[in-house]
Amino acid sequence: IVVNIPGETPYDVRIGDTVLEGLGASLKKLPAVASAPHLLVLTDTNVGPLYVEEAKASLRAAGFRVSDIVVPAGEDAKSLAVAGEVWNAMAGLGLTRDCAVVALGGGVVGDLAGFVASTYMRGISFVQVPTTLLAMVDSSVGGKTGVNLDAGKNLVGTFKQPAYVAACTATLATLDEREWACGCAEIAKASVIDSDEFFFWMLDHAEALAARQPETVSEAIARSVVFKANVVAEDKTESRGVRECLNYGHTLGHAVEALAGYGTFSHGAAVAEGMRFAARLGVRVAGTSEELVAAQDDLLDALGLPALAWSAPADQMLAAMKRDKKTRAGEVRFVVPRDIGDWELVAVPDDVILEQLRQWEA
Ligand code: NAD
Ligand code: ZN
Repeated sequence: IVVNIPGETPYDVRIGDTVLEGLGASLKKLPAVASAPHLLVLTDTNVGPLYVEEAKASLRAAGFRVSDIVVPAGEDAKSLAVAGEVWNAMAGLGLTRDCAVVALGGGVVGDLAGFVASTYMRGISFVQVPTTLLAMVDSSVGGKTGVNLDAGKNLVGTFKQPAYVAACTATLATLDEREWACGCAEIAKASVIDSDEFFFWMLDHAEALAARQPETVSEAIARSVVFKANVVAEDKTESRGVRECLNYGHTLGHAVEALAGYGTFSHGAAVAEGMRFAARLGVRVAGTSEELVAAQDDLLDALGLPALAWSAPADQMLAAMKRDKKTRAGEVRFVVPRDIGDWELVAVPDDVILEQLRQWEA
């Protein structure tokens, strides 16, 4: 799949079960990276022991000089402190402007690696090797990078497109159920926003995707990447409103994550809950049909993303949504599906949200 964003060098997203093996050979064909004197593989403490040797062996076999750096697994690695350690390590290795960074891991490693690559010496090339389903279908494509501050997630970052994305489905074999469901939620989100074609394909293939049937997994990744690439191509820097659709399910989802305590529910479980809520809100404010609500419930159930047996008081939920950085002053804005493949960003008055939240609570 070629991602072609106006004003950027087009890049390839390769999906397959031998993509990691072929990484070195692929990078040798890439003008931005082929003659890099030194590559830095950035990975985390979970992914490193599993896949860094295979990655390095492939790169070395292609003639690259390779070093690696391992950061602690988990969201905390997306910090200025860790970015600082990586910058210093890069300088210590003597990396120059023609060197490149290879991000081997999930969205945390990808966001951190993209951020350090885009800032080190005012920007060097980087390659994404996503190893979670979420990173393959969402975070590795689109060019958003960043780190968290105490004041909030992703508050510092850049737009930096990768030179290549190598989604090796073989690495998904070691991913646990919780992380799998996170990827499934983002795929479900994409399908509702994208089209009848994608959504009904998902309804037909949800069990197979939950069971990790290889052809279904590859096709779901490919469909999601095409969706994300199209959205990003229309709105590279999130300035034209088009990219807002990627936030479907995330308004309530982020509030659930925050109020339940981060880590209580997976991001995917929270987003799925947010999609259920937003569709029901759509019935109220955007003419969304009950059939859509029911079909989406069926899809999420089949993907192993059941409705949460948890709620918080409506006023606390509303306050949490108002604290979200995506909420501008005043009314909370929700992405709601008017229909499958047809979404709208709606500023919803507080009293309507509260009424819907009370129903959700009950
Ligand atoms: P993650 O990177 O923390 O990975 C989840 C867990 O799985 C980690 O413990 C990791 O070590 C482990 N892991 C990764 N690959 C593995 C494998 N193959 N086998 C076994 N374990 C493996 O989380 P994530 O869900 O991949 O990404 C979440 C991050 O992505 C968040 O920080 C979020 O902000 C970011 N994100 C960014 C974008 C974007 O556009 N840049 C989009 C969505 C999410
Ligand atoms: Zn998400």
